Amino acid sequence: MTKVSFDNTEVAFKHKTDAELKQAKWLFSVFNYKALVRFGPDLTSFGLKLGLPIKGLVKKTIFKQFCGGETIEECNQAAEELMNSGVGSILDYSVEGVEDEATFSENLKEIKRTIIAAATEDKYPFAVFKCTGIGKFDIFQKASENTLSQADQISLENIKTKLYDIAQTAVDNNVRLLIDAEETWIQPIIDELVMELMEKHNQDKVLIYNTLQMYRVDRLDYLNSTIAIARQKGFQLGYKLVRGAYMEKERERAEDKGYPDPIQPNKESTDRDFNAALTECFNNRDIVATCLGTHNEESSKLLADLMNTENVSLNDSRFWFAQLYGMSDNISFNLANSGYNVAKYLPYGPVSAVLPYLGRRAQENSSVAGQVGREMSLIVKELRRRKTAD
Ligand SMILES: Cc1cc2nc3c(=O)[nH]c(=O)nc-3n(C[C@H](O)[C@H](O)[C@H](O)COP(=O)(O)OP(=O)(O)OC[C@H]3O[C@@H](n4cnc5c(N)ncnc54)[C@H](O)[C@@H]3O)c2cc1C
Repeated sequence: MTKVSFDNTEVAFKHKTDAELKQAKWLFSVFNYKALVRFGPDLTSFGLKLGLPIKGLVKKTIFKQFCGGETIEECNQAAEELMNSGVGSILDYSVEGVEDEATFSENLKEIKRTIIAAATEDKYPFAVFKCTGIGKFDIFQKASENTLSQADQISLENIKTKLYDIAQTAVDNNVRLLIDAEETWIQPIIDELVMELMEKHNQDKVLIYNTLQMYRVDRLDYLNSTIAIARQKGFQLGYKLVRGAYMEKERERAEDKGYPDPIQPNKESTDRDFNAALTECFNNRDIVATCLGTHNEESSKLLADLMNTENVSLNDSRFWFAQLYGMSDNISFNLANSGYNVAKYLPYGPVSAVLPYLGRRAQENSSVAGQVGREMSLIVKELRRRKTAD
């Protein structure tokens, strides 16, 4: 049995030139300037609004590291480069924070374009979207709390029509569709609707995937209860497993409003539940398909090893590993090189609209203990290796 290793930086960065690696090194070092990370996105947004000529600079630096382009067409080059190493891309239209009907309609059209791209090109093995990209946060919240007024009920029906339309487009085109997980106070209605979609569309195979955030204390029980329902009703489940992205926000709200913190007490318990969930999905693989969305080496190894030990074919379509573009290339490329299914979220959209996403990446990469240490040390290791190999 061959054990996968994530240490091979030659494999990890084969698609990057020396100049690109040096630029990435510079960028990750910039993330150490806390003030820049904290205020950079707001200042950039302000500068863009004033018409300052900074778009080119942003596009050549942080945008290039973490995004594929401003349009699907512009993503083609990055996606081709990944595909040359056997890594797929998941087009992620990352326009956030605008809550008007015109934007929701535009987002709907764009999500459907990503589904068509996935239907026609092997390099796009999934499509993805966020429910709050097609409807007001407030409506998801009220629906989750059962406090919809009559007018809100109409808005919810309108959102459902869009959601069904997206799912049907994916099904008609035989495209796997991931639905991202969001804040706990809007997730109940999302879970309910996606469960309905899974029951309707995941009859013979899995095309619709919900997302489980394993930093939540209740998700392992939820996973098990849905497995029981799916078994009883005779349909299949698709789950993207993640740890969860809104920890601080969740804790602050729980404290403000005086309800129990929905998040695990510490990182160890999140890790424990994440690994338990992946094992549970693996053990129920006759009806559960899994997309493991993580930059965690231990968890990625756990699934890779389980597949190896249980003689599951490495390219079995029920198992995918996923990372974000511009991060953890050592995991993505070493897994793909060993024969596993791997895809990277490839965010795209107008520069001004993806600034919140870029801000989060900068923040996530700004702590020495966290991701930046990992990314930087891998880049430095590869640059050194190339120097001695010359
Ligand atoms: C392909 C992909 C898709 C994603 N989709 C979503 C999505 O739909 N919804 C979403 O919310 N997030 C999503 N994420 C982000 C994800 O939830 C994590 O925030 C991010 O990936 C970091 O977790 P990790 O497993 O990669 O790495 P690790 O570095 O091992 O874990 C970091 C994570 O552990 C948890 N954690 C850290 N400290 C503590 C603590 N003290 N107590 C409890 N838990 C703690 C947090 O969730 C933190 O993000 C996605 C990530 C990827 C790679």
